[in-house]
Amino acid sequence: DPNTIDLREHIRGIPDFPKPGILFYDISTLLRHGPAWRAAMARLAAIVRPHRPDLLAGIESRGFLVAAPLALELGLGFIMLRKPNKLPGLTIGLNYALEYGTDRIEMQADAVQKGQRVVLLDDLLATGGTMAAGINLLRQAGAVVPAAASLIELTFLGGRSRLDVPFEALIAYE
Ligand code: IMP
Repeated sequence: DPNTIDLREHIRGIPDFPKPGILFYDISTLLRHGPAWRAAMARLAAIVRPHRPDLLAGIESRGFLVAAPLALELGLGFIMLRKPNKLPGLTIGLNYALEYGTDRIEMQADAVQKGQRVVLLDDLLATGGTMAAGINLLRQAGAVVPAAASLIELTFLGGRSRLDVPFEALIAYE
């Protein structure tokens, strides 16, 4: 029964990845379990649908795995926010700060029409820096971002306080 599946049972924490001291939440085990993955997508669809998006956007690369099937489920198109120099044609980008150093995401300049409603998705919200950058990049492209969502939220990092849109996650680790 999809309503009773406990998604937590399908996520594992892998210690010391990618660096010593980091507990990495791995969604591979959720992805490889058909009914659990389907339940996760159905629950996200219920969260995202009320925001009446015109398009969904996902952040490379695990964000694609969330946003693309959800777009299909909702009957919507899908936009890629990618690492630098991956997208063809005219792109716009945004640099953002990491704990150590900076990173950059890009999207195609013509991906959205002005005023289109784009909900942003990723696999996991940690410090919120990646999601905040994605929201601002979509706005730079002319989008209205009514909400953001992810499979997992690490609430102890306070990432959602860096977002100026409603945010929901299916699973929270405290
Ligand atoms: P933030 O910018 O600090 O919120 O980090 C979120 C980004 O890092 C997302 O794109 C995640 O895919 C990735 N990330 C950070 N920690 C984890 C983790 O434990 N598991 C999977 N992805 C993670």
